[in-house]
Amino acid sequence: MDFSRIPVLNYHKIEIKSDIGITARHPDDFLTDMQYLAEHGFTSVTFQSVSKSETLPDKPVMITFDDGYASVYEHAFPILSHFRFRAVIFMPALYIGKTNDWDIQLGSKKFLHLSGEQIAALSAAEHEIAAHGLNHVPFTSLNSESLNKELKQSRILLEKITGIPVTALCYPFGRFNARVIQAVKQAGYQYAMASLYLGAAPPEEQNMALRRFNVYRFDTQRIIHKKLKAAYQSPIAIRDWLLQLGGRATPLYQRLMGLSKQVPLAQSVLPEELL
Ligand SMILES: [Zn+2]
Repeated sequence: MDFSRIPVLNYHKIEIKSDIGITARHPDDFLTDMQYLAEHGFTSVTFQSVSKSETLPDKPVMITFDDGYASVYEHAFPILSHFRFRAVIFMPALYIGKTNDWDIQLGSKKFLHLSGEQIAALSAAEHEIAAHGLNHVPFTSLNSESLNKELKQSRILLEKITGIPVTALCYPFGRFNARVIQAVKQAGYQYAMASLYLGAAPPEEQNMALRRFNVYRFDTQRIIHKKLKAAYQSPIAIRDWLLQLGGRATPLYQRLMGLSKQVPLAQSVLPEELL
């Protein structure tokens, strides 16, 4: 199945308070977005749902959440349930139940990630729990040993919670290259999400470099309507690509602060018998 033509709306936090990253969507706006999808006849799909049915609905849409924030459980989960939409949630496995420490926020504002219980509840309601590495560092910056641990251990940790095989991941900060794609495939993943990029997808690898539109705090319904066309060479794609450039500040900040060196990337987080 080629997923590259399915429109994907990607969210991060669903929060009443805004954050510095402009991706925190207000719960009222998230409700309006879901209402819009329902009224326009969209059917949500996940990698798991499409793999099971092997056919696509007439108007498919994929709703994704990056980073598995607890606000997804608190604010998005009830709204998704109301409309019977199923989402894909990409969870960095070492942040389960912990507060975020990689996203730059002014002051002391800290955002909590999903707990194991919340992940299990979302999975039981048929939302797909997908991988996002262990430490939320760019895969392109890792050597093969660390990259393999990020890929394999994150999957095992999530599967232990949900009991469902993890077949999809998304690249932290959207960073990937040919070496990363090969490692992801070798680790057993069938699908990988990137962020928005302009130009062509790598040939033969569409499902390993899937694109999507972020939904920003200030996006109107007219903007959402444009994003649902999944046109990656359009003015809205260029506008979003420029907005996304702002996100590059985070890996740079990590490097400046030495944060990317402090994470125990090459150490096992699981007992050897599980690997
Ligand atoms: Zn992320």
